[in-house]
Amino acid sequence: MTKKKLGTTWLGGCSGCHMSLLDIDERILDVAKLADIVKCPIVDGKDFPEVDIALVEGSVTSDEHWKEIKHIRKNAKILIAFGDCAVMTNVTGMRNYFPLKEVFDAAYVNAVSNDTEGQVPNHEALLKLNDKVVPLQEVVHVDFVIPGCPPSADTIFYVLFEFLNDRIPNLSDVKKLKYG
Ligand code: SF4
Repeated sequence: MTKKKLGTTWLGGCSGCHMSLLDIDERILDVAKLADIVKCPIVDGKDFPEVDIALVEGSVTSDEHWKEIKHIRKNAKILIAFGDCAVMTNVTGMRNYFPLKEVFDAAYVNAVSNDTEGQVPNHEALLKLNDKVVPLQEVVHVDFVIPGCPPSADTIFYVLFEFLNDRIPNLSDVKKLKYG
């Protein structure tokens, strides 16, 4: 079987889903037999390349995330929403209950830990937060979701292993599997 290409990235998330990916431990060797990891947060390279499978953590919170997920969609045969923030905004979406200005003021102006001169950063190099955080499927078609905050390492490995072997995962099978 030809080796597949796997890419992972994070948008608006805390990186916890990727920490859980690392928890697959030595099973990463099984993944490496079937796929080259051509993009991930510790692989250098600016643009997300063409891949067979893209794991995307986090939700869409900014203009840059919007462009990035559209770009990934064009370049990925299978796009997986990785973790609850990607699937339904989760923690990242908690700011949706407040106007954006209030959110910025809470973080940069009114927080007790700020100095008295606290002000909202404003520079053209900074990404522009959208008014509302949205999950991936509100911007692009998503092929599969891995729920959880974070998803368990067993679930992540199972989903990857199935797709890498050209099978469609069935998440209800995860509990029946024994790893390690
Ligand atoms: S789903 Fe949980 S662990 Fe994953 S990015 Fe969101 S908050 Fe972090």
